[in-house]
Amino acid sequence: MEVVEHVIIGGEEWCAFPGLHIPAIKARVDSGAKTSTIHASNIHKFNKKGEKWVSFEVYPIQETRRIIIRCKAKIIDYRNIKSSSGISEKRYVIQSTLKIGNYQWSIELTLANRDSMGFRMLLGREAMENRVFVDPANSFLLGDYSAEKISELYQHVKDIRSGLRIGVLASNPDLYSNKRIIEAGEERGHEMIFLNVQQCYMKLDAPNPEVRYRGGRSLNNLDVVIPRLRPNLTFYGCALMRQFDSLGIFCANSWEAISRSRDKLFASQLFSQNGIQIPITGFAKSTLDTSDLINMVNGAPLIIKLLEGTQGKGVVLAENAKAAESVINAFKSLNANILVQEFIKEAAGKDIRCFVIDGKVVASIQREAAKGEFRSNLHQGGTATVIKITTEEKKLAVKAAKVLGLQIAGVDIIRSNKGPLVLEVNSSPGLEGIELATGKDIAGMMIAAIEKQLGWQQNLEIKASVLETE
Ligand code: ADP
Repeated sequence: MEVVEHVIIGGEEWCAFPGLHIPAIKARVDSGAKTSTIHASNIHKFNKKGEKWVSFEVYPIQETRRIIIRCKAKIIDYRNIKSSSGISEKRYVIQSTLKIGNYQWSIELTLANRDSMGFRMLLGREAMENRVFVDPANSFLLGDYSAEKISELYQHVKDIRSGLRIGVLASNPDLYSNKRIIEAGEERGHEMIFLNVQQCYMKLDAPNPEVRYRGGRSLNNLDVVIPRLRPNLTFYGCALMRQFDSLGIFCANSWEAISRSRDKLFASQLFSQNGIQIPITGFAKSTLDTSDLINMVNGAPLIIKLLEGTQGKGVVLAENAKAAESVINAFKSLNANILVQEFIKEAAGKDIRCFVIDGKVVASIQREAAKGEFRSNLHQGGTATVIKITTEEKKLAVKAAKVLGLQIAGVDIIRSNKGPLVLEVNSSPGLEGIELATGKDIAGMMIAAIEKQLGWQQNLEIKASVLETE
């Protein structure tokens, strides 16, 4: 690096930030200001391997929004900055190498969330101390750029669009899966908005349908909705998804597919119609033929499942025919919808969760029930390990998701003497168990699949710059 001393710069200079992939940005040099500032928009904080990072967009050229650079940098500090109007605001501080002419050194920059059409950057005192002298009466002492040169410098980013606006329709923002989806979207430059299902409301009106959020904010301008619906909110959540769909907003899973997967009986019927093997299953309304229903699924021991159950809560193992009959009749007397199923004993409390995205199994884990338990659900104390699944199992998982129409699915498979059987398909599969066991960035893969479906592409040059700053 050159020794930067006794350099004289003007009141305006062209700066560059190679690490942020900004080849040219005109700065006003202002020794009256202490800190240096870059104007940014779409500023989002995210966590990266335990560190706090920020992603933001810069329009480096004055008077135009045609060129956008998306940047990522580690947050090194927060600073209270008082504006000329006396209002103080908290800003992120990042560090980057500044280049003016042939000189370069590292400076601190605050990110101002202001939409200014004028100077997009201000070079303050701190960045210049002991390095440069300012001759405010002159400009561009270290080099000027023609409009042609600027155009050439930004040739590669002309078609860059800013990130997508993605709503995560869920209930709990602190859930691992929801946090990870938001983090992964922000990391890829999208605006991620957490939407509490119960705080969305809609207007049904032929010319002007709408979805609004708590306080009246319209959600019609979303590009994408990722549904993460709790089972008890399926009805309202699917109604919202229908509305988003009718507004032309891309749904990561369709409401039809979600409803199909939430109805265990309907899903099982679709599986058997499409040649997807499941454990032999019986269903009846009346209790008159309970004993024959039991025979039909090859007798006890057998599994009884509440149709509305999840996380293994509504799943019972009846050891003998007598027990099976009394449990079935007890559930019936409570008007509960149940199905009965042959017990796959040889699975020995193990099942396989395949995470399917866009017709591909992207990760799979084996879940093993706790001692003395037959249900392998992680919520029932089961443990997860990485497992390599067979081609047959992969095909089965992909087909099960496809039959229901799910782009994103968690397919549960059980290994039986007859071969692999589908147990269940989940439309909002959890990420915690599978990401932690496999170390894979499943949330990132979900976002990438959505980008692909929408034909949204991050410019390759920008990706390269992002790597540089990491
Ligand atoms: P839930 O939707 O509540 O998770 P599942 O149908 O997936 O219900 O069942 C929960 C767990 O019980 C499964 O992960 C599996 O370990 C076990 N299980 C379910 N059905 C059977 C079966 N027919 N035979 C053996 N074990 C089963």
